[in-house]
Amino acid sequence: MNDTIGKLAAWAGTYGEDLSVCFDEPMSRHTSFRIGGPAALYLVPRTREAFTAAVRAAHETETRFFVLGNGSNVLFDDAGYDGAVISSSALDAITLDGDLLTAEAGASLSSVCKKARDASLAGLEFAYGIPGSVGGAVVMNAGAYGGEIKDVLEESTAFDPASGEIVSIPLAEHAYGYRDSVYKHTDRIVLAASFRLVPGNREEIGAKMNDIAGRRVAKQPLEYPSAGSVFKRPEGHFVGQMVEESGLKGFRIGGAEVSEKHAGFIVNRGGATSRDVLALVGHIREVVLKNYGVELECEIIHVK
Ligand SMILES: Cc1cc2nc3c(=O)[nH]c(=O)nc-3n(C[C@H](O)[C@H](O)[C@H](O)COP(=O)(O)OP(=O)(O)OC[C@H]3O[C@@H](n4cnc5c(N)ncnc54)[C@H](O)[C@@H]3O)c2cc1C
Repeated sequence: MNDTIGKLAAWAGTYGEDLSVCFDEPMSRHTSFRIGGPAALYLVPRTREAFTAAVRAAHETETRFFVLGNGSNVLFDDAGYDGAVISSSALDAITLDGDLLTAEAGASLSSVCKKARDASLAGLEFAYGIPGSVGGAVVMNAGAYGGEIKDVLEESTAFDPASGEIVSIPLAEHAYGYRDSVYKHTDRIVLAASFRLVPGNREEIGAKMNDIAGRRVAKQPLEYPSAGSVFKRPEGHFVGQMVEESGLKGFRIGGAEVSEKHAGFIVNRGGATSRDVLALVGHIREVVLKNYGVELECEIIHVK
């Protein structure tokens, strides 16, 4: 254990029951890819105060840290992470005020969608089935089936580790782009987000969600661990189509395989390592560049 981690661990050990502390926690347990070596320190704060305190303590002890949502868009390295992973998973409250739905960072998108449906509020159906947390979705501007987080977000609540301040960030200040936001370029942490929804019909909202869930099951290899679409969509091209036409469906390196069902996904067929996935990513990029002259950019975040 390095010095800074030691200091943070000592601080965490005295924080109390609102902060759970694990050492050498395998990240394969906390990611949808089921890949990743141990994080030196794995912290799970149970309250917003504990969450901000942990982030602040990491900042003050100059410990590398990574805020983890549901782990559905990340590839942790086999070598693990020599800093602190701080999980938002226990912060999952969802509240409603008229047609404004506010959720804490760790709430799952699917539970947020269900809450909106049960209150007959429309707008979030597109997000049903995206296996992320609210925090991860706000950071990534998650989107599917014609909708994106930026279409429904009213504001997010952020914590700035350097100043220790909690600030409200209106939609216009998120600098949203395709799978991009201001959060990807600063140290700020998402604590919560508010979505402006519109009154609708509960049955119709539910039917739309079920339709989307059905399309996911039909098109995506949900039976195997993955991190969703590996690459960002290049303008004017479809990644899946290029990979498939290049004959790469089913191509395998170690335990990592280009999905037979959806060539835009890499799946873990059992025992895949980050090295397998990265080698496969490199191979796909090379082949697609050669065949189409298109440089693929990774959407999945490699954490090392
Ligand atoms: C089967 C499958 C299908 C998918 N389908 C889609 C899809 O249709 N559309 C789509 O957009 N994505 C899709 N994804 C990818 C993924 O679910 C989304 O990107 C999701 O928004 C990631 O959320 P997460 O909570 O899992 O984030 P994580 O993977 O935990 O983290 C992603 C990034 O967000 C950061 N982060 C997380 N929480 C916070 C926080 N509170 N504050 C600051 N930073 C934070 C992390 O540090 C990291 O940089 C899919 C993934 C899988 C496995």
